[in-house]
Amino acid sequence: MKAVVFYRPGDIRFEEVATPTPESGEILVRIGAALTCGTDLKTFRRGHPVMIKKTPALFGHEWAGTVAAVAEGVEHVHVGDRVVGANSAPCHRCFPCQIGRVNLCEDLVLLNGAYAEYIQVPARIVQENLLALPEHLSFAQAALVEPLACAHYGLERSGVTPGQTLCIFGAGPMGLLLTQLAKRQEARVILVGKGKFRLNKAADAGADEILDAAQGEKVLDEVRRLTPGGRGADVTIEATGRPEVWEQAVEVTRKAGTVVLFGGCEPGTTFRVDTRRMHYEELTLLGVFHHTPRHIREALARLDQGLVNDKLLLTHEMPLPALPEAFHLLGRGEAVKVILTP
Ligand SMILES: [Zn+2]
Ligand SMILES: [Zn+2]
Repeated sequence: MKAVVFYRPGDIRFEEVATPTPESGEILVRIGAALTCGTDLKTFRRGHPVMIKKTPALFGHEWAGTVAAVAEGVEHVHVGDRVVGANSAPCHRCFPCQIGRVNLCEDLVLLNGAYAEYIQVPARIVQENLLALPEHLSFAQAALVEPLACAHYGLERSGVTPGQTLCIFGAGPMGLLLTQLAKRQEARVILVGKGKFRLNKAADAGADEILDAAQGEKVLDEVRRLTPGGRGADVTIEATGRPEVWEQAVEVTRKAGTVVLFGGCEPGTTFRVDTRRMHYEELTLLGVFHHTPRHIREALARLDQGLVNDKLLLTHEMPLPALPEAFHLLGRGEAVKVILTP
């Protein structure tokens, strides 16, 4: 089969590789559509400590397609089924799983390899995190399940309630999904982002106030000015994955407010928090990572019910060999997500 292979940061190649043969409990899916993700762009630029442990490696993790082969031991899935899968599945046995934090599973089975003609799905994902597509959902729409599940989990953890002011940093796919979900929950959204193309998308996603991060530190005063009494946001979600923006997210949050640190930063980086504000203003800082099987299921239900404007996110479509071009577009902020078809 043809696939995109990641060799090292900046070096990806479209090559002929062996088509995998599914083993006990596994299935083989013919990719109908794969989507680009901010995580993949980060991987392309600097590698990824969790998603790609050794190279060369297949990559891409947002996908949907048609079951092409089923190994022994698989009963609920059949050749020809249209399916979407998550990029992981927890073990339900380790300590984090036992305390109900399955997204932090110490034995999370991860799946990469969506940028290919076929993907071999591990048995645990087939069992736990593989869903049948409702008839009217396209492969590209369904492939939004994974990022939407992350956004849904992040917003749930934030505890934002109707009428509260939510400040979101980042107008990438996550910022735009979070905005849409928050508007459904009747929060007031102030979005801070960069680039004309994406800021226009933020308006379409329903953000009430849109601020250009290119203004620098001034934007922080602007956020506070837009909140009741100039107190700051009730809840802030950081979705850019930059330590300096994590600090800004804390800065614009009001007394007793909550900051969700949602964007993963480069390994080894740190950020600073004012101890006075943390203690005397009782800030809550929450790290939020990944998704759970429940959020994957709820995300598909939302897509099925038409609660998410997918057109806003799926801005471009390209053939698989054009993946480097797709990354350049994303790097310039001129696309939100690119659909890649083998
Ligand atoms: Zn993703
Ligand atoms: Zn586990």
